[in-house]
Amino acid sequence: MFDKILIANRGEIACRVMQTARAMGVRTVAVYSDADAGALHVRQADEAVRLGPAPVAESYLRADLIVQAALDTGAQAIHPGYGFLSENPEFVEAVEAAGLVFIGPSAKAIRAMGLKDAAKALMHEAGVPVVPGYHGDNQDPDFLAKQADQIGYPVLIKAVAGGGGKGMRLVEAPSNFPENLASAQAEARTAFGNADVLIEKYITSPRHIEVQVFGDGTEAVHLFERDCSLQRRHQKVIEEAPAPGMTDAVRQAMGQAAVTAAKAIGYAGAGTIEFIVDGSDGLRTDGFWFMEMNTRLQVEHPVTEAITGVDLVAWQLRVAAGEPLPARQADMSIRGHAFEARLYAEDVPAGFLPATGVIDHLAFPETARIDSGVESGSEISPWYDPMIAKVTVHGPDRSTALRALSSALDATQVAGTVTNLGFLRKLSRDAGFVAGDVDTGLIAREEVTLCAADAPTPRDIAVAAVVAADIADGPLTGFSLWAPLTRDIALGFESAPHVARLTVHDAGRVDVAVDDQVISLTHRGADWGMPAARHGARVTVFGARTLTFDMIDPLDRGGAMAGGDTVLAPMPGLVRDVAVQAGQAVNEGDRIAVLEAMKMEHVLRAPRDGIVASVAVAAGDQVTAGALMVALEEEDP
Ligand code: ADP
Ligand code: ADP
Ligand code: MG
Repeated sequence: MFDKILIANRGEIACRVMQTARAMGVRTVAVYSDADAGALHVRQADEAVRLGPAPVAESYLRADLIVQAALDTGAQAIHPGYGFLSENPEFVEAVEAAGLVFIGPSAKAIRAMGLKDAAKALMHEAGVPVVPGYHGDNQDPDFLAKQADQIGYPVLIKAVAGGGGKGMRLVEAPSNFPENLASAQAEARTAFGNADVLIEKYITSPRHIEVQVFGDGTEAVHLFERDCSLQRRHQKVIEEAPAPGMTDAVRQAMGQAAVTAAKAIGYAGAGTIEFIVDGSDGLRTDGFWFMEMNTRLQVEHPVTEAITGVDLVAWQLRVAAGEPLPARQADMSIRGHAFEARLYAEDVPAGFLPATGVIDHLAFPETARIDSGVESGSEISPWYDPMIAKVTVHGPDRSTALRALSSALDATQVAGTVTNLGFLRKLSRDAGFVAGDVDTGLIAREEVTLCAADAPTPRDIAVAAVVAADIADGPLTGFSLWAPLTRDIALGFESAPHVARLTVHDAGRVDVAVDDQVISLTHRGADWGMPAARHGARVTVFGARTLTFDMIDPLDRGGAMAGGDTVLAPMPGLVRDVAVQAGQAVNEGDRIAVLEAMKMEHVLRAPRDGIVASVAVAAGDQVTAGALMVALEEEDP
C-alpha cells in the first residue's frame, strides 16, 4: 500500500477520499486554489499545496502543478476524484511519466470511452446493446437529418465529447431538427472544443440505470445497479440502489453487459456503465442500451457502498497499489436499499441558479451519511460546483429507506444561502417516486409543484419573531418581566412584511399574535417548538421547510428596548408621528414615535424610564437608518 497519496480535487470528494486513506494509514496531500485556502479539504489533509488563483484553469486543471506537488511532497500516487482531470488521458500520462501511480484506469481505457461515438462502436463490437442511432463520422447536416428520419422521431442529438448534459437536444419533429442540430453543435464546440454529434433514438419513458463496475486490468466484477432516473435537465438529483422493479434476470443481464464492457477495455479501478432503459412496460432483458461509460468514481457511489458494504475508495487504493480484485462476483450481495440526495446552494424559484454565500449554520441528522466539503462559516464561492452535501440513507427496504430520506432532509439545516432543500423534501414525498414509478421526465412533469415556494404559516412567523426578539442569554432577556409585556416584531419574508405582537407571560412562555391568530409558544428543550437560528438580522426557521426572515427592526434589542439613552431609526423611513416632547417623563416601553418604512408602521418605544432630553425629528421627516430620533437624559449614577 502507498504511504502517501495526493488528491487532485476539492470539496466533498476530496474529503471523502481522505477519510478512507486515513483509515488505511495512508497520508494525504491536498491541493487548493486561493479561493479554497481555508477549505475543509485543506485542513483535513496531512499536507496541502497551493496550486494558484481561483479559476480552475489556473488551479485544479493545472496537471503540471499537481504532478509537481506530488513529487515535492513525496506522494506516490494521485487520486483524481471526479470532474476536473479525472477523465483526462493526458493527465494520466503525465502522472505516469513522472513515475507516479494514477488511481484509476489507464489512459487507453479512458480514451476508448472518452467519446460517446467511439465508445458506442466499441461496445457494439463487444456485444453490448447500444442505443439505436447514428454514431459515425459524417457530420453533414442533411445527412444527419436523413439519419434522424431513419431512426424515427423523437431523436436525441448528443455531443460526442459531451458530459453533464451539455450539447444535448431532444428533437420531436423533423422541422425542428436543423435548428437543434446547430445549437447542439455550437454548445458542444464551446464546452468541449469538439462540435461533433451523434443521433440516437430517444427512448420514451426512459429510466437511467447504471451499473458500478470494478476491474483490476484483467478481471472485472459489478456491484449492482443504481437508478438515477430522477433528473432535472439530464442532471441527477436523487439516486437509489437497487433500482425499483429490478428483476434477477434483468440485473443479471445488465451486470453481465457491464462486466463485458469493462473487460473489453481492460478496465482497472472503479467505473460506471450507464444504460438507458425503456421503462414503459417494466424492466426487460432486451430493454436496456449502453449509453456511456464514466471512467471514474461517480458522485453517487455512496448508495452502492451502502447496499454492498464495500468501500469503493479502499478498493481503488488497493487495486492501484497492485493488489488483485478484493472480491469475486459470487461474494457480492445486496443488503437493503439506499438513497442519495444532492444538496446544492441553488435558487430553485429562479430556475435552479447556482447561489453563493457564507453558510451561517449547517446541521445534519446523525441518521444519514453526510459527504460534505463545507461547514458552518464556509463560503460557497462562484468558482466551483455549489454542492453543499450529499445526504445518503440506508434502510432494510425501499419504503423504509425513502421515509428515512424524507426525515433526514427535514432534519437538515442550512442558513446563509438558498438551497434546493425544499425541492428535495417535496421530491422525496412525491407520489410517483414513493411508488417507485420513476423515469427521467418525472421532475419536469411535477416541476411546478416541486418548485413551489414555501409560504410561512402564522406559527413559523411566531417562532421567527420570538427568536428575533433575541434569546441569546436565555429566553427573552430583552424583556423585563414587570414592565410592558408586549412588543411588536416586524419581519420580512421574501419582501412581504409580517408583524407579530409578543406577549410575554414568563421567560419561557409567549403568546404571539400574527394575522388575527394568537399562537402560544413554550420554550422547551432547545427551542420554541421548531428549530430556528438567528444570524445578524436574519432568522431562519428549520423543520420540514426552511424559511428565512429578515428582521425589519434590527436595533430593536440593543437600541429601543434593552436600555440605552437614545431612540434611533432602525431603518430609513418617514416619521409619521412623534409622541413626546423634551422634558417629558416616559416609562420604559412608552410609545415615542411612529416610523413608516417598507409600507409598514413601526412603533418606536422608550428603552427605559427617564426624561426626554431632546427630540431630533418631527412628523413628516425622512430619516436614514441609525438617525437619532429622541435622546433621554443621562441616568443618575
Ligand atoms: P455523475 O454522472 O456522477 O453525476 P456527471 O457526469 O454529471 O457525474 O459529472 C460529475 C462531475 O464532473 C460533476 O462535478 C460535473 O460538473 C463534472 N463534469 C462532468 N462532465 C464534465 C466535463 N465535460 N468537463 C468538466 N467537468 C465535467
Ligand atoms: P452525459 O455525458 O451528459 O451524462 P448521457 O449520455 O449520460 O450524457 O445522458 C445524460 C442523460 O440524458 C441520461 O441520464 C438520460 O436521462 C438522458 N438520455 C440520454 N440518452 C437518452 C436516450 N437515447 N433516450 C432518452 N434519454 C436519454
Ligand atoms: Mg452520463
